Amino acid sequence: LNDLMYFEGVLIEISRAEGFDDSSVADLSEALDRLYVRTQDLRRREEAYIETPITKVNIAVLERLIAMGDEGLANQALAFEPFIRRVFDAIQIARREIFIQPQVLHRLEATMENKQEGIVLRFMTFALVAIAVFSTLCGLTLILLQREVSTRRLRDEAESRAYFLAYFDPLTILPNRTQFQEKVVAQLAEGANGTVGFVDLDNFKAINDTLGHAAGDEVLRQTAKRIEGIVANHKNGISARLSGDEFAFFLPFDDANRLNRVAVAVLEGCQEPIQAFGNSIEPGVSIGLAKASQTESKPPDFGELLRLADFALYSSKSEGKGRVTVYDSALQERFVMERAILEELPHAIENDELEVYLQPKVDLRTYATIGFEALVRWRRNNEIVPPNAFIRLAEQAALISEIDLYVMRKAAKLLASWNLRHNTEFTVSVNLSAMHFNSRAIINEVRGVLAATDLPANKLTLEITESEQLSDWDAVRTILDSLHDIGCRISVDDFGTGYSSLAYLRTINADELKIDRSLLQDIESSLNVRYVFDAIITLAASLDMDVVVEGIERNEQAEALRTMGCGTGQGFLFGRPEPAITALEKNTKAVVSRPAQV
Ligand code: C2E
Ligand code: CA
Ligand code: CA
Repeated sequence: LNDLMYFEGVLIEISRAEGFDDSSVADLSEALDRLYVRTQDLRRREEAYIETPITKVNIAVLERLIAMGDEGLANQALAFEPFIRRVFDAIQIARREIFIQPQVLHRLEATMENKQEGIVLRFMTFALVAIAVFSTLCGLTLILLQREVSTRRLRDEAESRAYFLAYFDPLTILPNRTQFQEKVVAQLAEGANGTVGFVDLDNFKAINDTLGHAAGDEVLRQTAKRIEGIVANHKNGISARLSGDEFAFFLPFDDANRLNRVAVAVLEGCQEPIQAFGNSIEPGVSIGLAKASQTESKPPDFGELLRLADFALYSSKSEGKGRVTVYDSALQERFVMERAILEELPHAIENDELEVYLQPKVDLRTYATIGFEALVRWRRNNEIVPPNAFIRLAEQAALISEIDLYVMRKAAKLLASWNLRHNTEFTVSVNLSAMHFNSRAIINEVRGVLAATDLPANKLTLEITESEQLSDWDAVRTILDSLHDIGCRISVDDFGTGYSSLAYLRTINADELKIDRSLLQDIESSLNVRYVFDAIITLAASLDMDVVVEGIERNEQAEALRTMGCGTGQGFLFGRPEPAITALEKNTKAVVSRPAQV
């Protein structure tokens, strides 16, 4: 027992020095307690056996202990070396006992007459055996405990790793979708008036594709840090990475001002440049927000809430990214509508449901119609769908080229035959989406259309809008040059809407500058607006470009533009877009009824 107590002290010291945690030390103490009980039990059994010859039993016990000791030694850990010595000694004692026991037995038998002496001798034998047993047991316990502790530690580690993987995103160390859901559901169940924010990186694919996955990972890590840094300022705020470049957060309130402040902070925080592998990356995010009170389910359903936030996010994306949108039911209606349009649009082309409308372009000095802009319409279930409802979707679905070419073919054919039959000289302008400038295919398409319709090339104007999709300007410029070489006119559409820059105007070979109607608003009253127009008209003249102003609705506007020397106008004042034949008839009559002016 003394041995045991000594061992206990050392064991506990060692385990502390080895850095076992409190629960491992508690395990150790518990195991030692059990050992005490076993020792006491053994002693009691020895005392009971004292009257009987048990040497054979002792020998069997010792043999087992030796075997166990040997096994323990074979598996020992270096950290426990000092104790291995004790185990080894204990085994030696046990071996010696096995050797002396038969002799003791023999001697005992010889002196059996003296019972008293026999008892004393036996007792001594048992004392020796007991010491051997205790020492061996202590050593073995130590080794077995050490194994137990390290297995337990491994198991704990494995368990906590499994927990980590089940509840966290390993890349950003943010909670994952599962944890996010559990926590949000818990807060919603308590009746929290919360809001879910869905955050999506705007240009992640481009970052990944151009700078590599390591840079992409860094952007995700930094974005996670920024979102969490802001959301964690609010009690019970949770941020998470849902998948890929999608993050989410939950805020336990839904008051509009507070929400807006947090969302704008996230938006701005995520726009800060990120340094990764020698590159300065300028990321950006779009955000959609949905309030628990906006869900139909009571208590609010997590899946529904996330779906509403996703609608809002989708709207932020399609409105031009880098913005925050709060869900409302109109958004959802629009989303459903857009889905239907995307599904039906390919069939609309096949089924010939697209129609060409024409809007006149007039000479601002004479008001004579000089040509038309072809604008597409979709006759869907006998209702006319305006292009704003489907052109952007058609671009997303890569259907726009087909639509543009359809309109170009149809408009060119109409105008060529109309001019021939009515002895008119109308021009026709068609819109070309930026998508055409990803390949040179458009050049042959235009050639083909001109050849098939016999429309003189200079009667066809191609309107292009500078957009972020026109990023490779060198490629765009060579395509435009080729189109120009064919003899078509090139028009820069929507000038003044933000994307267009004067710098690039000088570098392309364009014939016409089409000023967007947003610039026109206050032309009669504002001197500044007139200065801007004056500057643009001068610039265009220096580049040998005609100026067309679109969106003219009032006589005063037309008059102001005319006096400034602007050549061509387009707008509701002169005619709305109308079905092609209607527009052609109306404007041909006008030409015929004004022969003196022409
Ligand atoms: P856009 O090329 O700037 O066409 C002019 C738009 O302004 C037309 O809208 C026209 O109806 C409208 N507009 C003309 N005059 C006035 C006016 O005085 N006041 C007002 N408020 N609006 C006026 P629309 O036909 O709805 O077309 C919208 C846009 O859709 C077009 O803008 C063009 O970007 C696009 N689009 C139309 N057809 C096609 C097409 O065949 N291909 C491509 N790629 N885009 C097209
Ligand atoms: Ca246009
Ligand atoms: Ca335009």
